[in-house]
Amino acid sequence: MLTVFGSTALDTIRTPKKILRNVLGGAATFAAISASNFVKTGLIAVVGSDFPKQYHQTMAKFLDLQGLAIKDGKTFRYDGSYDNTLSMRSTLKTELNVLADFKPKVPENYKKSQFVYLANNDPEQNISLIKEFDSVKFSMCDTIDFWISTKRNSVIKMIKAVDAVVINDEEAKILTKEFNLIKCAKKMMEWGAKYVIIKKGEHGSLMFYDDVIFPTAGFSLEDVVDPTGAGDSFAGAMIGYLASKNSTRLSEIKKAVVYGNVLGSFAVEKYGIDGLVSLKKTDIKKRIKTYEKMIRF
Ligand code: AMP
Repeated sequence: MLTVFGSTALDTIRTPKKILRNVLGGAATFAAISASNFVKTGLIAVVGSDFPKQYHQTMAKFLDLQGLAIKDGKTFRYDGSYDNTLSMRSTLKTELNVLADFKPKVPENYKKSQFVYLANNDPEQNISLIKEFDSVKFSMCDTIDFWISTKRNSVIKMIKAVDAVVINDEEAKILTKEFNLIKCAKKMMEWGAKYVIIKKGEHGSLMFYDDVIFPTAGFSLEDVVDPTGAGDSFAGAMIGYLASKNSTRLSEIKKAVVYGNVLGSFAVEKYGIDGLVSLKKTDIKKRIKTYEKMIRF
């Protein structure tokens, strides 16, 4: 079983063609739903009393929700706006609300999870949560500029506490204060991460392990409408795939990165969570085949 911890949100997403208000989002939501294509996935997160029943039902279709707490107050809210090219996003608002002082509890039957993903979330909460698992074989975390600018030292401690970091290129640069992605990865490895995966949006990713560098192309798409959650879907697919194989062999980690790129590509084709919830296993298989053809030479 895989456990995913992190934000579940009501997102406002401003794209050039459409504005979505208070839609289901959150790093853990995207990651866990993406992972559920590969393995049984439990979510640990918190929402407020304003969280729509309909969103709860959507998540329940894909996830084990024993770890989802409902607290008095408002759900975490994120408001972000894309530029006309959809490649730059600025954060207009981050309202932590019930997430601010959340003390997550790991359900007893999740404690045996061997695979744990700490999605984008307060790094201090992430550090204390990972200690509650009995036998973690592989753990991974992500972060975002909000936490790097408010709690950088804790982000570094979080990196020490996990096996792998998956992070986007801009955030890797801000966090490590380096400009070159190899230097960024080396620094995160010095801090204690065994594996570093740097996501480069539509351009794919770079995976680093020891002295191995594994670059992957993004799945080329002509029509992108909303990049929100692509990185989370990437990470969820990666760890979901590894959990399904119960393996952390380097060859499987490389395949996991390919699944990450492919699931990320589904997320950006529709608005909000729609790209993931409408996905069938056969769609994934087909796209993996197309991807293999694209990159073979
Ligand atoms: P991504 O597009 O992969 O960077 O992820 C976007 C998701 O991250 C959105 O659904 C947001 O709700 C969530 N998010 C944005 N800012 C934060 C934050 N500071 N902490 C946790 N989750 C966040």
